[in-house]
Amino acid sequence: MGKTSKDKRDIYYRLAKEEGWRARSAYKLLQIDDQFKIIEGAKRVVDLCAAPGSWSQVLSRRLRPDQDPSVKIVAVDLQAMSPLPGVTQLQGDITSEVTANEIIAHFEGAHADVVVCDGAPDVTGIHDLDEYIQAQLLLAALNITTHVLKPNGAFVAKIFRGKDVSLLFMQLQLFFKHVSCAKPRASRNSSIEAFVVCQNYSPPDGYIPNMANPLLNPQSCPDFSQLGGINRAIVPFVVCGDLNCLDADKNYSLDELEDREYKQLEPTQAPIHPPYETALNMKKSGQACIPPLIDDVIIEEMVASDN
Ligand code: SAM
Repeated sequence: MGKTSKDKRDIYYRLAKEEGWRARSAYKLLQIDDQFKIIEGAKRVVDLCAAPGSWSQVLSRRLRPDQDPSVKIVAVDLQAMSPLPGVTQLQGDITSEVTANEIIAHFEGAHADVVVCDGAPDVTGIHDLDEYIQAQLLLAALNITTHVLKPNGAFVAKIFRGKDVSLLFMQLQLFFKHVSCAKPRASRNSSIEAFVVCQNYSPPDGYIPNMANPLLNPQSCPDFSQLGGINRAIVPFVVCGDLNCLDADKNYSLDELEDREYKQLEPTQAPIHPPYETALNMKKSGQACIPPLIDDVIIEEMVASDN
């Protein structure tokens, strides 16, 4: 029998109620920050995918914008959430450049010290699909972060430790000097969820932030042929051989190959010892009965094609 949401109520659920956090996930950010000290001293912080707001609460309680007016916290989510003291809410999509511009406008043109993202799509239960969508959301978060984060800033985001996680780590390492994978005690062991903690933002020289997404919005894409340097990370696809070359996907009749005289050729390499050699010899000597479908001709062909 599957677990009901009541069964899943653990000690952190209870603590969150007692201490007034909107969700138990507050403890994940608290534990990450205790370990990595990313929030302390920050003046401009962005909470991506913030609703219902427990991570924004952590930011607000640790940075005290009510006591220090130079601290600005922006929370972004597709959904509205109840107001929080010292937190400005933007209802928007993190995959949109409009949202990036709104964040920068709120910081009066300055860039953020820290961006956090606990974003998660609606889970389908199909693991491969969920991992893929989570990875896409993380890349969207990284994309908007490249617009709004200042050099040496920090980025924390949820990942699913699926089979392609090493690729994500390598992509993040292009933009940050230090990338760690954190598993807070408040995140259940049974969950493949973890968090990337990326410090010292330093994009490659000449990198131009770009929110174009060919899947979601083809019109937003620049003319890729105009991109150069680090912004054109495209592996060239080169066809070798001219158009008159023989085509490996085509069948040729002997008449078509006029310039080549056809003669039967022996195999370049005679068969060595195929695994079915014993069976073949037994069949030849009448010691074995091989079903009629696998007759000598087919076996001979198998031997030839093996070479
Ligand atoms: N960190 C939050 C907290 O502590 O209360 C919980 C975040 S919840 C797990 C994930 C959130 O991601 C949802 O509120 C969802 O609306 C948001 N989300 C998913 N895709 C988004 C997108 N493209 N843009 C903005 N928010 C998104």
